[in-house]
Amino acid sequence: MKTLIKNGRIVTAVDNYLGDILIEDETVALIGKKLDMTADTVIDAADKLVIPGGVDPHTHMEFPFGGTMASDDFRTGTIAAAYGGTTTIVDFAIQYRGESLTQAIDNWHRKAEGKPAIDYGFHLIVSELPDERVPELKRVIRDDGVTSFKLFMAYPGAFLVDDGTIFKAMSAAGEAGGLVCMHAENGIVIQELIKRALAEGHTAPKYHALTRPTKAEAEGTARAIAIAEMAEAPVYIVHLSCHDALVKVQEARDMALPAYAETCPQYLFLDYTRYEQEGFEGAKYVLTPPLRDKWHQDELWKGLRMDDLQVVSTDHCPFCFKEQKELGKDDFSKIPNGGPGVENRLSLIYNGGVVGGRINLNRFVQLVSTAPAKLFGLFPKKGTIAVGSDADIVIFNPQAETTISAATHHMNIDYNAYEGMRVQGVAETVLSRGKVIIAKGKYLGTPGEGRFLKRSTFGWK
Ligand SMILES: [Zn+2]
Repeated sequence: MKTLIKNGRIVTAVDNYLGDILIEDETVALIGKKLDMTADTVIDAADKLVIPGGVDPHTHMEFPFGGTMASDDFRTGTIAAAYGGTTTIVDFAIQYRGESLTQAIDNWHRKAEGKPAIDYGFHLIVSELPDERVPELKRVIRDDGVTSFKLFMAYPGAFLVDDGTIFKAMSAAGEAGGLVCMHAENGIVIQELIKRALAEGHTAPKYHALTRPTKAEAEGTARAIAIAEMAEAPVYIVHLSCHDALVKVQEARDMALPAYAETCPQYLFLDYTRYEQEGFEGAKYVLTPPLRDKWHQDELWKGLRMDDLQVVSTDHCPFCFKEQKELGKDDFSKIPNGGPGVENRLSLIYNGGVVGGRINLNRFVQLVSTAPAKLFGLFPKKGTIAVGSDADIVIFNPQAETTISAATHHMNIDYNAYEGMRVQGVAETVLSRGKVIIAKGKYLGTPGEGRFLKRSTFGWK
């Protein structure tokens, strides 16, 4: 099976040139000028960008939270991702207390089985790490292709782990070449702020934001970096939302520490005023960390430009407004935390970043594809267009415009956080390992053909 992509502008994290790509079966076989061999399929990409498929290293399909489940499963969520030009996700398996790490990974394999439309990997959320499980953590990195872990400083009583556990996990992961991702927020202080707000009768959605101050995130970020330094291990801060936390990452990077961080579209395009909307509307934006005051957005863009932030992921964790968000109608602390985004990431970042004059095309590809592929052990199989790489390729129309709306999106959720936003830059044709899975607005793939990715160890240094 041969596919020829002709006349496109090929853009990777480092290149930008006109050329043709020959795909044989699942991988890129040849790149050149005016290739004229015969092929089963020929795609004309004139006036289009040809970019590596997006890699979203932070999604939560069917994620159990607050007595309900994220509304996208591995089928609907990955089809939506593909529509938006994302061809790889790294999702989060959960180790519940009392479970082994292997059990947790097996559970998530079962959850995903037969469903993914695109390739996928797992990070592992570690809820406890007794000493006897430390060797297992290293074994999982070596044998199971699960080379990154997520630990929480937030959500006491559910996911929160103490600093000793974080230190142990970082040391073990660091020794075995793995990477610890941190949800960095001081959950213990936040718990007290929530108690106080509720005692004062403050139940509206905006109190979700008012009880999670930027200082709580900055403190968590500084602590995560300090613990990583003591453990002599790298650290990756997830969903960084504010200037206060960014400064901590910046300081670490200025000292040449292996500290990395991602931000998400919600922190670049949405702000605190969303919580001030009429009635219960603000619940749509109850995600963690919360939306911040608008001025933080410019600082985050600066961070993305200066490489203090390396990745834009989505933290896609959708809960429907009806019935799911409504669980917290009378108590903001019962609103399931999370929002949708996996489908909209590339268009939002292209429009806000490249069209908006904040980043160039190479940096755009770096942020949404190459950097996450490198940090999470998928490069150069994913994250670039090169001979031998998987043919995960997006034909991206840089001129086309679209209006983001729940009426037209493919995510399984009854609202869109970016409703009505006009964006320039649309993923038109999407190939997953050489097969066209999105074309002319239609999904042409088969759920279940996405493959589990056994990831390599931390490959950035
Ligand atoms: Zn998350």
